[in-house]
Amino acid sequence: MALDDTIQQVIKKIVLRNAIEYGGSAKYDTVISKVVGLRPDLRPTIKEQIPLIKKIVDEVNSLDLADQEKMASKLSVFENVHKAAKRKEEAKLPPLQGAIMGKVVTRFPPEPNGYPHIGHAKAAIIDQEYAKMYEGKLILRFDDTNPLNEQLKYYDAIKEGLEWLGIKPDLVKNTSDDIKLLQSYGMKIVSQGDAYVCTCKSDDIHSMRAKGVDCPCRSLARSDYITRLERFFDGSFEQNEAIIRFRGNMSEQNSAMRDPTLFRIIDADHPKLGRRIRAFPTYDFAAPVEDSLDGVTHAMRTKEYELRNALYFSVLRSLGLREPVLLEFSRLEFEGMPVSKRKLKPLVEGGLVSGWDDPRLPTLAALRKRGILPEAIHKFVLSLGISLADTKPPFESLESYNRKLIDMISLRLFFVKHPVEIRIINPILVKIELKNHPTAQLGTRNVQTSDRIYIDRADADRLKSGQEIRLMELYNIRLDEVAQEKDGDYLRVINTGQEIKPNIPKVQWVSKDDMVPFTVIVPDKLFSNEEFNKNSLHTYNGIAESYASKVRVGSFIQFVRFGFCRLQTNGVAIYTHD
Ligand code: ATP
Ligand code: MG
Repeated sequence: MALDDTIQQVIKKIVLRNAIEYGGSAKYDTVISKVVGLRPDLRPTIKEQIPLIKKIVDEVNSLDLADQEKMASKLSVFENVHKAAKRKEEAKLPPLQGAIMGKVVTRFPPEPNGYPHIGHAKAAIIDQEYAKMYEGKLILRFDDTNPLNEQLKYYDAIKEGLEWLGIKPDLVKNTSDDIKLLQSYGMKIVSQGDAYVCTCKSDDIHSMRAKGVDCPCRSLARSDYITRLERFFDGSFEQNEAIIRFRGNMSEQNSAMRDPTLFRIIDADHPKLGRRIRAFPTYDFAAPVEDSLDGVTHAMRTKEYELRNALYFSVLRSLGLREPVLLEFSRLEFEGMPVSKRKLKPLVEGGLVSGWDDPRLPTLAALRKRGILPEAIHKFVLSLGISLADTKPPFESLESYNRKLIDMISLRLFFVKHPVEIRIINPILVKIELKNHPTAQLGTRNVQTSDRIYIDRADADRLKSGQEIRLMELYNIRLDEVAQEKDGDYLRVINTGQEIKPNIPKVQWVSKDDMVPFTVIVPDKLFSNEEFNKNSLHTYNGIAESYASKVRVGSFIQFVRFGFCRLQTNGVAIYTHD
């Protein structure tokens, strides 16, 4: 029947793909879940398909890798997969309200107060994408008006992170470049009566704000508040002695409008201005003024600023400045991998992680080190779109984009994380040539086999339980006896032939005559249930085939039945994902 044919075809492709990805052996459960994922219409009747799926899995597994590859190429298994992925990845952002081709200006405005992370990547990518979509401009503006938080190293780290992401702003500037201009707008807004200098104690300000009561400084005579204004900018006030507040409405429901702070005095070294300047605008004042003066047409920011939108426009209206369109999107962070400095800083400073590029962190430096490609981040961010729904996707959702990219450039090699020695009674001692990748042209390598071979502890346990297993690309083995020696136990095994048998586990191995010590560092969830996960980094001091020592640092390896890794130094890799 035609319909059955298609189902069969679909299953066969899935099985082949899975088999090839796992070194020649498809996994039955993975295949079932992939079938249901790809053909949700089959879900209700999946039970009926199980015998068919089983049959195809067995058929495919009984072929050797080379024949599986031939069949896969005949059925265009990988082409179709790539095409489908491409369609999904070409996610586009929705049109921008009021955007005119060639006239859109967006900006990414980080405060240089920390290392850039996945959340910044989201904001910067969306900003850049819109600028591109409308053939407009992207501004990178360092919002640096709080010298207590900002440091030169963060400007550099942010620039570096964006460069790595492939984000090329048309203009790079600092808000602090405009400090005098911002101060003159500050003087203007006070002298025209839309803001005032407040000298109340900060506790009193808080309580009046909470109660919605006007502050006495609000109703000073004009001559008095002009004097205060002059003193504010001529350096007569000490830090914390006076602030400039917007004349909002103290009984406003939206507390952001209860006379918020526009300027404060800060005595600290500013990374760009040194000690020349003491009166600094707040974000609430600097952001709208800068956006307007910079010609930004569409200003995007995260949703938690929503309550401040009214203030943003009020400031611009008071100053008679052009109003950009404001847009919000949700904050992004991964489940179990917070971006907040409040949570990460103690871990870095307390030595609980190795630094801001520790592979467990969501910083761009960490993602880069771990082997996440910038292109994967772009695709992932665009797939999320600009919804307002709070997103805490699992890290796996980024991984799936990355996997597609690194799949074709990763060498398939063997690594054994917990080596157990086996000795083969009747070995075949040869040099075998193995392909470095099932489909991509990544060359071949020669492996010297031996009568002593290492397999993983979990696989050795299967042998012990009487199961026959296949050493991938080599031959099948069965346990003869568990032998004891003073240096430890080893397993004596019998080579039971090269015939490919369905349903016997295929395992990776490393030959004693062709091995190097090899360490893989595996990052796990940094937080579980809001608590730092003390067990979030695993180190496997195992062995790999000697070819692993010839791989260039920085390249990708897919250790068969283990996962993708990126080589850090000779003999040490970080696990990227499975
Ligand atoms: P932090 O508290 O980490 O400093 P922030 O929001 O103050 O966070 P900025 O450096 O000021 O960080 O952010 C620059 C831009 O990046 C802003 O437009 C901000 O909205 C956006 N952004 C920051 N964090 C995230 C995030 N987690 N997801 C999406 N966008 C973010
Ligand atoms: Mg910040």
